[in-house]
Amino acid sequence: MRPLPVNFREASLLDQAHWKDWRWQAQHAVTDLDGLERALQLTQVERLGATRAMAAGLPISVTPYYLSLCDPGDRDCPIRMQCIPQADEAIVVKGDLADPLGEEAHEVAPHLIQRYPDRVLLIATDRCGVYCRFCTRSRIVGDGGGTRSMGALEPAFEWLATHREVHDVILSGGDPCMMSTERITRLLSRLREIEHVDYVRLATRAPVTLPQRITDELCRALRRSHPCIWVMTHFNHPKELTTEAQEACGRLTDAGLPVMNQSVLLRGINDDADTLERLFRGLVRARVRPYYLLQMDPVRGTGHLRTPLQRGVELMKALQGRVSGIALPKLIVDTPGGLGKVPVGPNYVVSHDEGVTVLETFRGDLVQYHDPPEP
Ligand code: SF4
Repeated sequence: MRPLPVNFREASLLDQAHWKDWRWQAQHAVTDLDGLERALQLTQVERLGATRAMAAGLPISVTPYYLSLCDPGDRDCPIRMQCIPQADEAIVVKGDLADPLGEEAHEVAPHLIQRYPDRVLLIATDRCGVYCRFCTRSRIVGDGGGTRSMGALEPAFEWLATHREVHDVILSGGDPCMMSTERITRLLSRLREIEHVDYVRLATRAPVTLPQRITDELCRALRRSHPCIWVMTHFNHPKELTTEAQEACGRLTDAGLPVMNQSVLLRGINDDADTLERLFRGLVRARVRPYYLLQMDPVRGTGHLRTPLQRGVELMKALQGRVSGIALPKLIVDTPGGLGKVPVGPNYVVSHDEGVTVLETFRGDLVQYHDPPEP
């Protein structure tokens, strides 16, 4: 990897053509301790974290764009905490799992995971622009496998062709947008040959960490596969909703692609109602629907980033009535072992007796609701 030639805080001085080129961004991603030291003044905890991550084979990658969002003077910067390793990554706490969603146990063909009857996950690449420190798939991202060849994915396509109950394919990784547009197009075309696949979800963090990747060329290519493509992205903090990121989302929605967002609840990053409110409102303004707030999966080495489950419930209660329904995602626990997602949240039903339900409103008022008489 070529060393980055500039100070990240002077990104605006860069040749704009380079800065806007997603391949340049990917090629100049910082992938080691030296690069991080050059770009930020690391704390001892981060230095130790990066050293340990490299020794443990947990990859580091931060695009120049995402690194430019890190506050060099703030060790608690919410962007920095998502992409710079912490020493605590070496600590394993009770409940930690290398594969929290049991994906390996649910692999039905190479690179194809089925956890629900009607949908599957296709892992097309191990690469991401940024390796997030909370990644559920940290056991495989950046493992050197790169983009899976069409031949390597053929058994997955063959399995899909014989399983008519599957209607929904999530194209994931790694980040599928790290593949060339030509490869993405070939994959989508191959999936569209399978008649019972109704839609494909492109799961990508590119609008967040590498918005330059959302080119007009990519949007045109995705549009050609429409109407069956949905884009699922992953903003966690309002600071990520930069002009570039919003423009990237705008290019997708202008191309007619629905864009949905799932956020992960992260300790010290977004686990307060004001931050989540700003995030969800900002997403809706960018025409992105916040659909899940995920309780963090118990990925090995991420205990320092996880919140107690009750914290998410309290936050949902704080946000109910404060933001409109289109801005309020569901709080979800993806159960360890891969047994499926469970929605959780505050209980607004105070009592139910003889056809009368007492409900608690967001203001704390108790209101009776009467069922209709039996027919
Ligand atoms: S972009 Fe997604 S797959 Fe890649 S490291 Fe981040 S969370 Fe994991």
